[in-house]
Amino acid sequence: MPTSDVVIIGGGINGVALAHTLAGRGISVAVLERNAIASGPTGRSCGVIRQHYSHEVTARLALESLATFENFAETVGGDCDFRQTGFIMAVGPDREDGLRNNVSLQQRVGIDTRLISAQEVREMVPGMNTDGIALAAYEPRSGYADAHATSMSYAASARGLGADIHTGVEVERLLVGGGRVVGVETTSGERFGADSVVIAAGPWSPGLARMCGLELPIRPHRVQIGVFEAAPGHEPRHIFIDTALGMYHRPESGSMMLVGSVETAEADGTIPGPDNYAETADPERMEAYVERLLQRFPPMRDGRFHSGYASLYDVTPDWQPIVDAVPGTDGLFCVAGSSGHGFKLAPAVAEMAANLVTLCADPEPLFSFGRFGANETAPGSYPEHNILG
Ligand SMILES: Cc1cc2nc3c(=O)[nH]c(=O)nc-3n(C[C@H](O)[C@H](O)[C@H](O)COP(=O)(O)OP(=O)(O)OC[C@H]3O[C@@H](n4cnc5c(N)ncnc54)[C@H](O)[C@@H]3O)c2cc1C
Repeated sequence: MPTSDVVIIGGGINGVALAHTLAGRGISVAVLERNAIASGPTGRSCGVIRQHYSHEVTARLALESLATFENFAETVGGDCDFRQTGFIMAVGPDREDGLRNNVSLQQRVGIDTRLISAQEVREMVPGMNTDGIALAAYEPRSGYADAHATSMSYAASARGLGADIHTGVEVERLLVGGGRVVGVETTSGERFGADSVVIAAGPWSPGLARMCGLELPIRPHRVQIGVFEAAPGHEPRHIFIDTALGMYHRPESGSMMLVGSVETAEADGTIPGPDNYAETADPERMEAYVERLLQRFPPMRDGRFHSGYASLYDVTPDWQPIVDAVPGTDGLFCVAGSSGHGFKLAPAVAEMAANLVTLCADPEPLFSFGRFGANETAPGSYPEHNILG
């Protein structure tokens, strides 16, 4: 049976970034991905890389990760197609205090961000109707990357450092003996031995953890993205989160743009399980995006709806990830529940997870299992826990 120090279940961004980090530290590692690299939610990700978060730890991790995206060829190898477009976060009066708090927190940790008025937003985005926007934050260093290309580059570099990346290999069983994980068994009956196993299977993680009797507080949440062709001469230059209207958009190649939702209680949100959900977009949701786009950006009347799709967030009760050892089974770890933030945080989360696995580091309390049992989830600066973080 092939044996390595660490087996990682899942070849999304978290799995391959961790494999790269571990292999770089001289740890033998195997990634087992049931389909292809980034074939799950990672491959559908908008790849937005911003640092606007309510918690210092998340903001720091976003900043650390940004440095990786900015210097990807040197730090990882290959291409992530990072576009440094700048990022605007606009809020209505109800979130103005939260925005101010976040911007001062972020400035304290060294993030390049500043408050801008609705008037400045109009100057930066000609044609925008800023009704309902009380204040905004602007991050010039933020942008977006290609989540698929990033994952492929991480996987290739991990391979170059000696990692075994197996695709088309589905883990069916965790092998546990004497309270310790000793490896995994696949659907074809093959066994992979390991001292440590990391569950990085996104929305499928709860099914794997359940094999060890652990209920992970992660639920699959269906989200929808609309692809639009911008009005000629009005192609968006920045990434824009608009909490007043509950949506975000970012430029896509050519004149295209992606539009998504930042509403927590999206009507189409939580679904019973991660399999067999509708991957096509709902016409009503796309119509709602059209209405909001027209309201915020009247020139879009000369734009065009192109297509839409749906995918999954793996959401925890406080919309923070779980990066921790699994209680009750030695050697078993979880890097899941990214709750819609997982792409931008992956480089720094991989470092954090590698420290847990190889150095027995203490978990970051905000990302620990313990926070749920002790009921110590920390609310963010905005009215409710949600995708804004
Ligand atoms: C539409 C959309 C837009 C998003 N936009 C952003 C954004 O702009 N910025 C941002 O930071 N984040 C964004 N996210 C969130 C981010 O993409 C995710 O948090 C991140 O990709 C999760 O990566 P992961 O590796 O944890 O999991 P996943 O991508 O879910 O990967 C898990 C992998 O595990 C595999 N797997 C499952 N079960 C098994 C098994 N039994 N054996 C072997 N393999 C298995 C799956 O096939 C899958 O490939 C977005 C997500 C979506 C869906």
